[in-house]
Amino acid sequence: MRLLSSNGIKSCASLVALASLSAILQAQSTSSEVTLTPAIVVAGSPELIRVTVPNAIEVKGEWLGHKIEFFRAKDAHEWIALAGTDVEATVGASTLRVIVKLNGTGGETRDLSQTVEIHAAHYRTEKLSVEPKFIEPGPDELKTIEADVAIKERVFGTSAAEPEWSGNFIAPVKAQPTDSFGVRRTFNGKLNSIHKGMDFRAASGTSVHAANSGVVVLAQKLYFEGNCVVIDHGLGLYTISMHLSRIDVHEGDRVAKGQLVGLSGATGRVTGPHLHWAVRWQNAYLDPAKVLKMNLAAVR
Ligand SMILES: [Zn+2]
Repeated sequence: MRLLSSNGIKSCASLVALASLSAILQAQSTSSEVTLTPAIVVAGSPELIRVTVPNAIEVKGEWLGHKIEFFRAKDAHEWIALAGTDVEATVGASTLRVIVKLNGTGGETRDLSQTVEIHAAHYRTEKLSVEPKFIEPGPDELKTIEADVAIKERVFGTSAAEPEWSGNFIAPVKAQPTDSFGVRRTFNGKLNSIHKGMDFRAASGTSVHAANSGVVVLAQKLYFEGNCVVIDHGLGLYTISMHLSRIDVHEGDRVAKGQLVGLSGATGRVTGPHLHWAVRWQNAYLDPAKVLKMNLAAVR
């Protein structure tokens, strides 16, 4: 509310926003060979990167310290990567490096790198209360937490070398989603953390489904996450379901889109029953609501 009370600040901010918007539009009109969807990049947004160069035989990319792995779209002229910016990404100009290797004997390449402006997303803040053991864990609990860290490092350290998903991602539960991604939370007045997923208001026992096809790479209880299922969709992309009351899959299982993976619940660090659902690309957490809105049917 305080920000809105100052018209001076508000109009000044709008001018800055307009200026950077025109800069983006200019930058994009110069390279239709590389497009990002959505075109306005904000911290936490997934991005579909398309490279259209008819005689390309390989496309390599790098952005914000992430290696970007491209694959050929259904339409063989296009190369696609599903990437994104972390909810905590630094706001400002970034360099998206794209190098295309061309068909021919000379090993010719083209550099299609460009500047991508990352805009701030305005996430809410809220205060929550959970059991004290989740805020000040004892020695035994710290050991469990440490072991969980090692498990997660292993799980997120490798991903299938090809995309395992196809078509749009679907909501994992039939329950009301909440606008909860990116919220700055204070637990018990002490611990500050950023909410890196989306909470669905699901009563305990609600069926939880795979949002897309992939391989189950974790299916077990963890300290904070409770009963947790992680699905690898390939090329560094994962979906994560937490706080389940029951797990119905095993590590190594190949799951189809819509397949039952477990039931929602209230295990781990929770204030009550719900499904916490997260989308991770490499080590970046992306806004699940935006991933569910991506139109991927024509891509793969
Ligand atoms: Zn959550």
